[in-house]
Amino acid sequence: MSAELVDGKAIAEDVRMKVKESVQARIKAGKGTPGLATVLVGENPASQVYVRSKHKACQEAGIKSFAYELPASASQEDVEALVKRLNEDDSVNGILVQLPLPAGLDEERVLNMVSIEKDVDGFHPLNIGRLAQKGRDPLFIPCTPAGVMYLIEQVVPKIEGKNAVVLGRSNIVGMPVALLLVRANATVTICHSRTKDLPAVVRQADILVAAVGRANMVKGDWVKPGAVVIDVGINRIDDAAAKRGYRLVGDVDFDEAKEVAGYITPVPGGVGPMTIAMLLTNTLKAAELADR
Ligand code: NDP
Repeated sequence: MSAELVDGKAIAEDVRMKVKESVQARIKAGKGTPGLATVLVGENPASQVYVRSKHKACQEAGIKSFAYELPASASQEDVEALVKRLNEDDSVNGILVQLPLPAGLDEERVLNMVSIEKDVDGFHPLNIGRLAQKGRDPLFIPCTPAGVMYLIEQVVPKIEGKNAVVLGRSNIVGMPVALLLVRANATVTICHSRTKDLPAVVRQADILVAAVGRANMVKGDWVKPGAVVIDVGINRIDDAAAKRGYRLVGDVDFDEAKEVAGYITPVPGGVGPMTIAMLLTNTLKAAELADR
């Protein structure tokens, strides 16, 4: 292996420790304990797992967390009434509406309702709009994209002027990552399902972020020698040797790419752990904003 591993698990742990210390310092100074409310609608098993792990992480960081659950049959009004109540609740600094919402609910309207000062997921249209505008700063940056940038910053001392290629243009990962890289003065190419000759485009990347959702799609000979490869993808592939019958792999063929890249994130243990670390960071920031 020639590439150096970017250990997201260790880096995320470090971020979480720093949040914990800041929370303790706040409490010592007589300030309020940060509080995060999660809103889970329906019984999507993956969402239930994500929400549980967010509460566990809050507990470990000394952040209060409040779990709100509504049945899949909840109406748009029910969900909006809950968000409104949480907007007005002073013990809640951050509100996280777990996506996706069940079919029939208007996700955009719900996200729009979240107070911008409590938008720790960073998905409020105002926060995203500010992210896209020069000279404007969002209050919060979406957690996975913020985690991606944090990892890049650990290994690229100067992002400015680098060629960055982002695979994927989703609202939650690809597009905000691309906007963040532009803000860091990289020259950014955004690729998607209609991009022609993807390998040739990817080969230009000093920094490659893959957020596509296709197992092992990026091959070793797509990677520019020495590139920084950040793999956001989480894909299940069958593996009879694994206890659960499957294992998780990224969008990048790790075994091939690690022979060519300068730095590479593993899956699991790369971007994944950073998402929750950034949620805690945003919740702490929300509490600090509320102090003012
Ligand atoms: P989406 O499905 O919303 O977006 C996928 C993007 O990839 C789209 O823009 C799509 O293009 C593009 N795409 C699909 N197929 C191809 C292809 N063959 N060539 C080029 N581009 C392609 O996914 P998400 O952004 O939500 O997630 C991406 C991955 O990241 C998933 O594996 C997901 O599990 C993972 N993820 C990980 C997180 C973490 O914490 N680590 C958090 C969130 C997601 P088009 O727009 O044209 O359809």
